[in-house]
Amino acid sequence: MSRTYVITGSASGIGAATAQILRDRGEKVIGVDLQNADINADLSTVKGRHDAAAQATELAGGTIDAVIACAGIAAPIPKTVSVNYFGVVEFVEALLPALKTSAAPRVAVVSSMASLQQNDPNMVEAMLAGDEAKALEIAASHVTDDPMTGYVSYPSSKRALSRWVRRVSISDEWAGAGIPVNAVAPGTVLTPMTEQLLSTPEQIAFVDSQVPMPLNYHQPPESVANALIWMTSVENTHMAGQVVYVDGGAEATLRGEDVWAWNDANL
Ligand code: NAD
Repeated sequence: MSRTYVITGSASGIGAATAQILRDRGEKVIGVDLQNADINADLSTVKGRHDAAAQATELAGGTIDAVIACAGIAAPIPKTVSVNYFGVVEFVEALLPALKTSAAPRVAVVSSMASLQQNDPNMVEAMLAGDEAKALEIAASHVTDDPMTGYVSYPSSKRALSRWVRRVSISDEWAGAGIPVNAVAPGTVLTPMTEQLLSTPEQIAFVDSQVPMPLNYHQPPESVANALIWMTSVENTHMAGQVVYVDGGAEATLRGEDVWAWNDANL
């Protein structure tokens, strides 16, 4: 029997690849995007998120089996916080009632290896506290003539999103309802988002210095889509709160071999 998936960012890149693979398998996909989707909505606004969730629930007939949240932007502007964090979290939370009526509900979101990059802890805390106005105010304070300073909104939004996944995945609300919540963190994916970024040899060299990918180098969107699809499949019964780096080895290169040291002092 086919499952019903709600996929944000379905009109391009990773979201489009995910939607295509699932449709080809005969699953029902409800795409959400700014345009060219089943539901055209702006997830950067509170109204957009809630209207889209209501429409998705209606189109699904009340039961949603999986939500895959891919919509995102990497612009050095405060809006990045609204789309990448609140546009995911508020939208997914609004779909909880429809997920609860599924026999095997699942959620997967797209974080990024950029969550490991330098971020603003105050902005991250404001997001996790659900204070969009404060997070936007902090993000605005970083906007200067140099886009690299405004860029901090992107890694901050992805750090907050990865932490939200870990937080809610073990809560009564989500784990208690039998809903695995996880994230995929990609490296450099060849989509419209990175087209401009990878347009000169100098820029490619800079990106590669920040995102080293010893395994198979820059990745196609399908490499991320397939991990999202497994996370939201019936087969995933016990993976909770994981941020899985599907990034050609970028995270392993940057963080190194021993990521378990947090508990060593207790031995
Ligand atoms: P993309 O630009 O190809 O697709 C993003 C989609 O999100 C677009 O269709 C866009 O219209 C939609 N979107 C943007 N703002 C929206 C809004 N306000 N409301 C509704 N939809 C909106 O980019 P992509 O590479 O497929 O990115 C997908 C996700 O993967 C993003 O969350 C991105 O941060 C993440 N990611 C991408 C890369 C990469 O290298 N491309 C790396 C790590 C993480």
